[in-house]
Amino acid sequence: MTSQRTRGRMIERLREQGIADEDVLAAIAAVPRHVFVEEALASRAYEDTALPLGFAQTISQPYVVARMIEVLRAGRAALGRTLEIGAGSGYQAAVLAQLTDEVYAIERIGPLLARARVNLRAIGEQKVRLKHADGQLGLPEAAPFDTIVVAAASARVPPLLTQQLALNGRLILPLGTVSQQLALIERRADAWVETRLDAVRFVPLRSGVE
Ligand code: SAH
Repeated sequence: MTSQRTRGRMIERLREQGIADEDVLAAIAAVPRHVFVEEALASRAYEDTALPLGFAQTISQPYVVARMIEVLRAGRAALGRTLEIGAGSGYQAAVLAQLTDEVYAIERIGPLLARARVNLRAIGEQKVRLKHADGQLGLPEAAPFDTIVVAAASARVPPLLTQQLALNGRLILPLGTVSQQLALIERRADAWVETRLDAVRFVPLRSGVE
């Protein structure tokens, strides 16, 4: 149920759904998603679906993880220094770490962050730097970022995050509350350019830590 064949089928489905960036597909194929879901759900880890993580949070659907990273990479040489807001299980951070050397991930729920740490260690991933904090504030000590991925939905773009984008940097986030849409924000020399993409459903971005 967590075999190479099952994982291969997931990659085939992502390809059928339009994910064309072979490096993104290879990154997803390289990360054993079953390690990141609760044991009772391991048999469903390679279904293309979001799954509960506890604490009312979910591990994102593989298609959405792939889609966000594909959009962030399109037409660029590399993701560069990358920040994820909403580390959750650590799964998306692990996928990002296949594609770039510098990954920071912030999580506001302490016990989830602890689990992300265990999960990343279990797969031998040492590059991801985790932090327990409110990600809406970004990570000023490591800014600027070439890439910022927000894995929780917000009614508006957190201004401190766009400020921490490097020139030509890109941020992707689910915008909206009840109905949400992925938004890509690119920092140009004289402005931030926003593009709206797919309809999605994420858990909400919240303030403070617990
Ligand atoms: N990327 C994760 C899934 C994210 S679910 C994975 O691959 O497993 C969204 C996560 O965002 C939840 O864990 C939630 O606690 C976290 N979150 C919500 N608001 C946040 C904030 N302001 N700062 C940091 N994390 C936040």
